[in-house]
Amino acid sequence: MKMFVDGKWVDSVTGNTSSIINPATGEVVDSVPRGNREDVKVAVDVAKDRLKKWSAMSPIERSRLLYGISDVVRTNVEGLAQTLTMEQGKPLYEARSEVMGFVGCLEYYAGLTGRFRSAQVPFTSGEGYSLVTKKPVGVVGAIVPWNFPVSLLGWKLSPGLAAGNTFVVKPASTTPLTDLKLAEVMTNAGLPAGVLNVVTGPGSVVGEELLENPKISKIAFTGETGTGKRIMGQAALTIKRVTLELGGSDPMIVCDDADIDLAVEGAAFGRFRNAGQICTSVKRLFLFQSIASDFIRKFVEKVKLIRVGNGLDPHTVMGPVHSEHQRKEVQQMVEEATGRGAHVLIGGRSPSGTEFDKGYFFEPTLLTEVDYDSRIVREECFGPALPIFIVRDLEEAIERANDSIYGLGSSVWTKNLERAQYASEMIEAGTTWINSPPISRPEVPFGGFKQSGIGRELGVEGLEYYYETKTTQVYEYGKGKKWRYPEN
Ligand code: NAD
Repeated sequence: MKMFVDGKWVDSVTGNTSSIINPATGEVVDSVPRGNREDVKVAVDVAKDRLKKWSAMSPIERSRLLYGISDVVRTNVEGLAQTLTMEQGKPLYEARSEVMGFVGCLEYYAGLTGRFRSAQVPFTSGEGYSLVTKKPVGVVGAIVPWNFPVSLLGWKLSPGLAAGNTFVVKPASTTPLTDLKLAEVMTNAGLPAGVLNVVTGPGSVVGEELLENPKISKIAFTGETGTGKRIMGQAALTIKRVTLELGGSDPMIVCDDADIDLAVEGAAFGRFRNAGQICTSVKRLFLFQSIASDFIRKFVEKVKLIRVGNGLDPHTVMGPVHSEHQRKEVQQMVEEATGRGAHVLIGGRSPSGTEFDKGYFFEPTLLTEVDYDSRIVREECFGPALPIFIVRDLEEAIERANDSIYGLGSSVWTKNLERAQYASEMIEAGTTWINSPPISRPEVPFGGFKQSGIGRELGVEGLEYYYETKTTQVYEYGKGKKWRYPEN
């Protein structure tokens, strides 16, 4: 494929390309241009040029257009999901659900376009009033990771387009294909050419140009906390607005009164969906002592049923991890934990067999007796391995849960609503799910405490980050005297 700029497929000025690899087979799926700073500058100039007209479109027109685009994306789900599975590795059923999530998010914000009320604020002095109104931020640089290339693009595009901004998108280097196809589908469905541009290439080149380019007003970033720190530093040079959705190490707390079967299902879904590569995957499991052995026995039985394989096989429950680098990381974290005395209950290695030879597979893994200073606890384990801890009570669970640099998601499993509310109050995380694994919804804000991020995506709150607030002070004739400069 090529890059998508100004509604057209273009090569990079470098003429260089990069191969996109299927994580299940190691085979080349396609190639994309290896863009450089010049390519980004061209795309940014196009996006800047289209801003005036796009932001001037009436909210109702923009709303109708976005609803229409979401309908067209829905009719393309199957093709987009196939591409997503082939470049990312996730099973087809998860890929379909991700594309449908994109559609749902776009529809949600299509419905909010023009629904914002602005304020008229009278001056307490009686001299007049202010109008507090909203303006689009401008050209947004959207930097997207490889774990959810479609939905995390949707979390940025949907509110951003609804608010009247234009975009230059940089997909992750290893998952650009579905984003490129989406840009074409959306443009064919009526999005004006140049409102959404996609430039492919390395973060260190294409990403850095987005961070430095003075015509970009905002960076919407999802990725690792380490990259987020770099983004924040570079964006500071031209005071760009930033939203940072970063890493997590989410605790799941199962109390003694929880529905154990439900919680086991939740833990399996919460840890192994997308092969454990979700910012809000369950990454540390805390079980009350009295239910721990029952829970662990059932959990191991559940994990045995997780069928690992190529995402295109309809029987596959869990696909490969995304890359060899990622597989090694998970392997090393497991080995470091066992070196410190952890016990592997199930998994702990790559599966054997010819179907797994060329892909980046790793077995779903459960660990107990894990030293709390192991990497798998202290860092973000972005893969299918889960440390399990036994705790005395809720206080100990909360204390452990909060002992992390991260604060993204968390879950509490109990039938006692008072207990759940207390835990939610005390856990330092942007979201706490009660009796549910992590599921994001477009209508509620999402984001992190601590080093898990800055700002919020989704919900009405997410829309706010795509606006500047404009104040117009109006002095009624003959009343605005207070500022007059003294004459001698
Ligand atoms: P990453 O930080 O390696 O890359 C993310 C994006 O940043 C990619 O497009 C990459 O090319 C780009 N990039 C890299 N270096 C850059 C630079 N110097 N300048 C500009 N752009 C640069 O992250 P990843 O490995 O693709 O994604 C996994 C991470 O994302 C995990 O830590 C996960 O927790 C996090 N994540 C967070 C959320 C959330 O909403 N909080 C959601 C999903 C994933």
